[in-house]
Amino acid sequence: METFDVAVVGMGALGSAAAYHLARKGVNVVAFEQFELGHVRGASHDTSRILRTSYGKPQYVRLARSAYQDWADFEAVAGERFVTVTGGVVFCPVEGPYAAGDFTSSLDEVGVPYELLGPAEVNTRWPQFRIPENVESIYTPDTGIVHASRSVAALQMQARAHGAVIRDRTPVERLNPDGSGVVVHTANGDVRAGKVVLAADAWTNTLLEPLDAAIPLVTMQEQVTYFKPADPDAFDRDRFPVWIWEDTSCFYGFPTYGEPTIKAARDRSDNLMTPQERTFVPSQELLDELSSFMGATIPGSGPALRTVTCQYAITPDRRFVISPLEQHPDVIVALGAGHAFKFTPAIGRILAELAVDGGTGEDISAFASHLVAAS
Ligand SMILES: Cc1cc2nc3c(=O)[nH]c(=O)nc-3n(C[C@H](O)[C@H](O)[C@H](O)COP(=O)(O)OP(=O)(O)OC[C@H]3O[C@@H](n4cnc5c(N)ncnc54)[C@H](O)[C@@H]3O)c2cc1C
Repeated sequence: METFDVAVVGMGALGSAAAYHLARKGVNVVAFEQFELGHVRGASHDTSRILRTSYGKPQYVRLARSAYQDWADFEAVAGERFVTVTGGVVFCPVEGPYAAGDFTSSLDEVGVPYELLGPAEVNTRWPQFRIPENVESIYTPDTGIVHASRSVAALQMQARAHGAVIRDRTPVERLNPDGSGVVVHTANGDVRAGKVVLAADAWTNTLLEPLDAAIPLVTMQEQVTYFKPADPDAFDRDRFPVWIWEDTSCFYGFPTYGEPTIKAARDRSDNLMTPQERTFVPSQELLDELSSFMGATIPGSGPALRTVTCQYAITPDRRFVISPLEQHPDVIVALGAGHAFKFTPAIGRILAELAVDGGTGEDISAFASHLVAAS
């Protein structure tokens, strides 16, 4: 049987970053992807993803700070830019479930610069918005955009360039940890690995349950829509920020990015589907809801041009899972709960450190609690 130091299951953003960092550490790594590389059935395709430090919990602010450095390090290795800094604003309606104070105190604790703005200041600075009274806004100049599919492709290419073996269209069917590593059973033969990094997002529990482990997950089909403003220049990144509306229903969006459109979406569609039930057909109801929000909040956004579907696998409180299994420590699990792209190179580095060094300098203390017994 072929043997490797580490096997990675899943070549979305997190698995690709893990394979890259493992290969850079010089270990013998094999990575499996059930579909073709770059497929659109998971969570890591399409164009833009928000990169930000502005979180309501200091642990995420710290991890995001590390991720900015990891992105810069990866850009230097790849010789390519993936990060575009645009500035970003988080809107917190005062009556809503998210307090601006949680964001400002977390940013203060980590020392990240920001401005706390009222509606009048926002509407003056960015007249494209119509922000009502009773909304507090946190502006962070370091917020930006990462190109999703381009950076994932580059991670896979650099993983290979540093010696990783990548096998796509090779589903992993079962993991068999035996105390001195793991036998990885794939549709195209078995391999033995000292450690396994399981980064299978919405498919994770399929491989965990036979190991009597599980993550409480809700999976759903997400969708993002590209709107066509009459005056796309008004939404250029020098004149319009990344934005997030944090409320009972959360929405988010981008300035123009590589095309004369602006992308926006509702976060957490609740359009519940397992990966096997995915339709890849956008919901008209969600599109109507988003278009009405855009019409009221960004009146110049224009008509919807196209909608792309995607997938979320989220834990009850959106907390990540980054941890070895207690009962099988040679299996290390990573799950991004629908907000991990910005952390991709940092999570990849952490997974490689856990697999090779047995630990990491990053604070991941909160990211093991959702790994529970299946029974
Ligand atoms: C619409 C949308 C917008 C988002 N916006 C943002 C944002 O602005 N900022 C941000 O930080 N995050 C954002 N996210 C979240 C982020 O994109 C995800 O957290 C991240 O892409 C997850 O990467 P992943 O590698 O864990 O998952 P995936 O990309 O789903 O990868 C898992 C891979 O595992 C493979 N796999 C599964 N089972 C097996 C098996 N048995 N054998 C082999 N392969 C297997 C799958 O085929 C898949 O390729 C967004 C997500 C969506 C859907």
